[in-house]
Amino acid sequence: MKKRILTGDRPTGKMHLGHFVGSLKNRVKLQDSLEAGLPKYDQFVMIADVQALTDNFDNPQKVRDNVKEVLLDYLAVGIDPAKTTILVQSMIPEIAELTVFYLDLVTLERVLRNPTVKEEIKQKGYGQSLPAGFAMYPISQAADITVFNASLVPVGEDQLPMIEQTREIVRKFNSLYGEVFVEPEALVGEVKRLPGIDGNSKMGKSLGNAIYLSDTEEELRKKVMGMYTDPKRIHVTDPGKVEGNPVFIYHDVFNPDKTEVADLKRRYIEGNVGDIEVKEKLFVALNELLKPIREKRNEFEGKDEILNQILKEGTARAREVAKETMTKVRNAMKIDYFK
Ligand code: ATP
Ligand code: MG
Repeated sequence: MKKRILTGDRPTGKMHLGHFVGSLKNRVKLQDSLEAGLPKYDQFVMIADVQALTDNFDNPQKVRDNVKEVLLDYLAVGIDPAKTTILVQSMIPEIAELTVFYLDLVTLERVLRNPTVKEEIKQKGYGQSLPAGFAMYPISQAADITVFNASLVPVGEDQLPMIEQTREIVRKFNSLYGEVFVEPEALVGEVKRLPGIDGNSKMGKSLGNAIYLSDTEEELRKKVMGMYTDPKRIHVTDPGKVEGNPVFIYHDVFNPDKTEVADLKRRYIEGNVGDIEVKEKLFVALNELLKPIREKRNEFEGKDEILNQILKEGTARAREVAKETMTKVRNAMKIDYFK
């Protein structure tokens, strides 16, 4: 059997540059990788609306609207529904079912120790009103991965604790009920964590610090020109700091002209170049990257019938796989009463 891959995104907004280098590029590569002339992997990409609702339950319209936006972003970067199964999480109730069984295999203490969840709880300022569903989302994510028995999970660095949690659940399940699941492995993208334009260590949809793949040229220019740089540098002649400076981190990641980048860095350190020139060159590099993505997105925009069909077919195919897994789970857990 081909190795299965599961990855996904929360429909909480449009997709950004962090997604592109953190996971989308990998997905396109993986969907196209061949072995002996045949596709090497069976890739499932999930639009995780159930997970999005854990912190957006009061705004279901936002989640619904963004399912389509995320799909458009997938198609724009080259994820091909003929090669990759694209599915909507909530339309596969087997995932919810498996989540309930997994809740027994994890302690509350363990879930709340998850560093990413801890950080997000702090960011969202939940205090005493933490929704139980939000705290438990790593368990639901373990069900997302294992219901497809995926062995490879392409993700950004912030998701590594989720994969570790999934591996623990798999070990526990297999030792209690028999070998049903494989332990999945994470595959981190070429950039583990792209910082935001505000200098925050992570660009995030919910953080208001993102450059979206669908931003227009004008929006892109405005965002790049307003980017956080070295706060200590006031005059062009002040020597600047390159390390940890998001403008240069982006240059390193997105500007293919390495000689230009080296020259800008040297002059920045010497106090010999203005922020405007450095940012203008970054804008040009980013615009080159985003132009074809924008155009491809435009091709699909408004074609709701085609978009719905892609989701419907992908979800139906994914559900077949999920059902097969649940038959094995019920059998292993001795709850297969009416065969
Ligand atoms: P939200 O703020 O709503 O959580 P997000 O921007 O974090 O949105 P997700 O849908 O949670 O996006 O993440 C989808 C995938 O993209 C995950 O694998 C995540 O690790 C990866 N990812 C998200 N942001 C970045 C980033 N800045 N750099 C690298 N990878 C990222
Ligand atoms: Mg996130």
